[in-house]
Amino acid sequence: MSIIEKEYNSINFKEKSIPVFSSEVKVSILDILGENKVEVIGKDYKDCMCKSSTNAPEYFKECDKCNGKGIITLNKRVMTCNKCKGEKLIRVKHCYLCDNNSKVLMDSKIEIELKNSYKHLDKIELDNEEYKLVLTLNVYDKDDYYIKGNDVYYLRGINYSINDHKEKKSVVINTVKGKEFVKSEFKCKKEIVCLSNKGINDGDFYITFLNEVKEELKTTYTNVIIGKSGYVKKEELIKNVSLSAKDYIDLDSEDYIYIDNSVDEIICDNYLVKLNKLSKDNYFILNGDIARNINLDKDDLNTDRKVINLDEEKLTISYKKNLKEVEKVEAYTKLVLDKQGKKSKMIICVNPYFENVYKIRIKNNKNVVYVEDYKYYDNTLVETFKSSKYLENYIRLDKEDKIVVGNDLVLIERV
Ligand SMILES: [Zn+2]
Ligand SMILES: [Zn+2]
Repeated sequence: MSIIEKEYNSINFKEKSIPVFSSEVKVSILDILGENKVEVIGKDYKDCMCKSSTNAPEYFKECDKCNGKGIITLNKRVMTCNKCKGEKLIRVKHCYLCDNNSKVLMDSKIEIELKNSYKHLDKIELDNEEYKLVLTLNVYDKDDYYIKGNDVYYLRGINYSINDHKEKKSVVINTVKGKEFVKSEFKCKKEIVCLSNKGINDGDFYITFLNEVKEELKTTYTNVIIGKSGYVKKEELIKNVSLSAKDYIDLDSEDYIYIDNSVDEIICDNYLVKLNKLSKDNYFILNGDIARNINLDKDDLNTDRKVINLDEEKLTISYKKNLKEVEKVEAYTKLVLDKQGKKSKMIICVNPYFENVYKIRIKNNKNVVYVEDYKYYDNTLVETFKSSKYLENYIRLDKEDKIVVGNDLVLIERV
């Protein structure tokens, strides 16, 4: 027998033909309520392309025992041909797809008709000519729906913004009766929309819109001094009116609110509070206003203004030339300026160059004379204008607290 003409015998296939389907079927509760048909995907044995001699003639040849009749006559008895088993053909080529079984495992689906009485974890038994299977129902979205009578409530809130409302945007919702396009009327924060007859039987279908109404909030702006995180009194937060809004988080109605350092804006009694977090080092509260120290250097004293960088904002502050005492300058910065006319003050405390500025008290052995004017020099030379008549106009000072000039004792107080 040549290799080409080698004959192949089929093995008994029935024992192997068990379909492979998952024992679990995932369904939506809407499919159950709508008594929809769902497909269960699996694998099942199907006829191989080599099975039909019409489709694949090269796999077969006529049975040479019965000459393609399927029957043989032996001792005048007509019998089924024992070589081709009555098939008239014998296999002459090996099929690598089915290993000559004529059946191959292929993707398959079973369609199941759901009943609205079905519940999560119910078992569905299939027992027909094709399949004998037990499938467990896994209802994956059951927690999103609440069913009361024939009415269905969709519990998951749908976020809807003022822009969605302006653009009349629809949201696609799966109901018991199929897809529906729904819009919020945007009347309040939480809006429930009823779709008549879209529930079970003649029941209704309810959807909850969570409308984003932050544009309707009064926006406030508050400077909060927080190093890292901490508690801030609510009334402190709702003081000033403010700039634009970004995202926010909802907070409960306690008197104090814990603000994490990562939080920039919060919702507080219908106010959107934008937090300007000030570092403890640079800012402080001065009679309810925000204040910041600015130290002048000695060159600044010869001028009457200085440009400073205040949180990346350039700001010109004016002060007395040759400033000798701390001057409190009110600054209108972007940081605190609001769009609605109310003002939050930013106080810049301009500190003169102190290092070599001295207040001088002059004490002789009879009385104490205060020097009313003083100057600052880096070489610690202090010029006295209205000093004691016993004192010379110029006194050389060092950094000691007391010096004696002639008969006079000079006490030095650093300002
Ligand atoms: Zn035969
Ligand atoms: Zn095959």
